[in-house]
Amino acid sequence: MHIYVPNYYSKFSCIGSRCQDNCCIGWEIDIDQDTCRRYLQEQGAFGERLRSHIDTRDIPHFILGEHERCPFLNADNLCDIHITLGEDALCRICTMHPRFVDQFGERGEIGLGLACEEAARCILCADQPFAVVLSETDAPAFYAESEPNDPALSEDFLAAREQLFTLLQDTQLSLEVRLVSILLYGSALQAAYEQNTDNFHDLCHQPQDPAAMARPLIHHDPQHSLDALRTLFADLDYMDTPWKSAVDTALSRSVAALQKAGPRIQSFLSPTLLSNFAVYLLFRYFLKAMRDGDILGKIQLAVVGVVLLYALIAANDRPDLPCILRQAQLFSKEIEYSEDNISALADAFIEDPALDILPLCSLCEVAINL
Ligand code: SF4
Repeated sequence: MHIYVPNYYSKFSCIGSRCQDNCCIGWEIDIDQDTCRRYLQEQGAFGERLRSHIDTRDIPHFILGEHERCPFLNADNLCDIHITLGEDALCRICTMHPRFVDQFGERGEIGLGLACEEAARCILCADQPFAVVLSETDAPAFYAESEPNDPALSEDFLAAREQLFTLLQDTQLSLEVRLVSILLYGSALQAAYEQNTDNFHDLCHQPQDPAAMARPLIHHDPQHSLDALRTLFADLDYMDTPWKSAVDTALSRSVAALQKAGPRIQSFLSPTLLSNFAVYLLFRYFLKAMRDGDILGKIQLAVVGVVLLYALIAANDRPDLPCILRQAQLFSKEIEYSEDNISALADAFIEDPALDILPLCSLCEVAINL
């Protein structure tokens, strides 16, 4: 098995006690069976402490303490399991966090999850164009020996994802043109995939020229799509109520107000931050379409994520970088890390005509102004 990672991957290391948003607070941390067995057999006083802070019913997990802190997070915000038993004793989630893993046949991919404060900085502030590189890391032990997959189809999807990265990172084009281009390309890919013709293979491998793409001919009311996004996000489940209300405020503005905010945003926002966000979402989700066939849904997620982050930035006078990174991090925590929310978005992208490709193209063309 070969493992591939983003080119910023090696720049990440946990900032530990300097982190403002410790990942050992506020989450229920599940313990894999092997580690749980080891914890339950641990000797001495620390073994006693372990056993008294683990709930073994259903999926074993740590029993959170006051303010939802992991019971092994000490006053210096360091991990007592790591200190007492060593790194090897950490459970799978704690060993891997904030990394995510996926496997497509003999190809393993590991990325950094945006929910982590330091990972968000590595991902969104990356100054080199994004690339997926072969890692020297060994495959984590829990990877399957081999996952069934069709190598030819994998090659096609990998090539299509590269085309999407190229389109998104073409800084000669405005951001709205890049977003419209990936939507139109995704629409063509989805149609060809469903028709099951050689055209799909060709589309995946042909370099895409945004100037040659058929532009939407029918005008769709972009405000209608923005209102649909507001309703969609208002109906999701959130852990953090203030963020829910920030999202609602951001999406309640008119399309004209979002467009007007463009020059102001441009004066302080790194030109690559929003495209890095879209690239992250495509890196993480696009290949999953090999399993569920929903190519377009992965592209809609990336585009809608950018529209929302743009609207959240526009809702602030002059947010500083940590504030912008925090918004992206909250998107990850509240949306990406909630299976229910991710599946509600995927359903809405299929069922709501206001979030279909051409309406979303109109929304990007009018609302995003960078
Ligand atoms: S959120 Fe990231 S940087 Fe902060 S403690 Fe967790 S892994 Fe470390």
